[in-house]
Amino acid sequence: MKNIVFFTGAGISAESEIKTFRGKNGLWENYSIKEICSVGCLDKNRDQTINFYDERRIELKDKRPNMAHNKIVELQKKYPQNIHIITQNIDDLFEKAGATDVLHLHGFLTEIKCEDTNCHFKRDIGYNKQGLDCPICGEYIRPNVVFFNEQAPAYAKMWGILKNADMVIIIGTSGEVINITQVIESAKYSILNNLEPSENINDDLFDKVFYGRATSIINKIALIVEKNI
Ligand code: NAD
Ligand code: ZN
Repeated sequence: MKNIVFFTGAGISAESEIKTFRGKNGLWENYSIKEICSVGCLDKNRDQTINFYDERRIELKDKRPNMAHNKIVELQKKYPQNIHIITQNIDDLFEKAGATDVLHLHGFLTEIKCEDTNCHFKRDIGYNKQGLDCPICGEYIRPNVVFFNEQAPAYAKMWGILKNADMVIIIGTSGEVINITQVIESAKYSILNNLEPSENINDDLFDKVFYGRATSIINKIALIVEKNI
């Protein structure tokens, strides 16, 4: 198979101690998702939103990639033409594992940008708190992340990659944000790995389903990939 896509979500980073999105109460690190990361939150709860992402960015410094990130990056290094990594995650754990080619659908936590979409200011600030004003135009700056119900410019590229995918491997996503049926639609072979079934994902559509921790499943997935590549 020529094109193999790893499509990942918060679950792949859970064993690196980054909390997944939808805890039982729809809270992310004890914050209401609606209040701190939905479209309009910068107008309504600006300070809370900025603080929330500042905290996540600072704590990201010490988070390490796990076996699942490492194995996927190893495969991508071995087969750079064939392995594509797409993630909904805003963390940098694939990059810390050595990846240089990851499509981040929902932005990147260490980056900030100008709130004015006509101004192209964007900067990687590492694991620090962001400042307040754009050094170019003086507008507010904001984290370079996609809030709920905001446009996600990277989706066009994602569908382009998925259209040509022979195998798609889903790891650690509830499928609440992106329609997983569509994600695997063009693939001849598909694999699902989550902790448990999700009401948004029809696991009958997959050729192989593994419920369990990504770090304990990844070697089985890697074997299938290596056999078919
Ligand atoms: P989600 O929280 O909705 O679902 C997590 C999924 O991962 C669940 O299906 C669960 O069964 C599975 N899972 C949990 N632990 C796992 C493990 N150890 N191994 C395998 N699977 C495991 O996650 P989502 O669908 O990615 O949510 C979408 C949004 O959350 C994204 O838009 C993303 O930007 C945001 N988010 C990102 C991060 C991050 O960057 N690490 C963290 C939290 C939320
Ligand atoms: Zn600006």
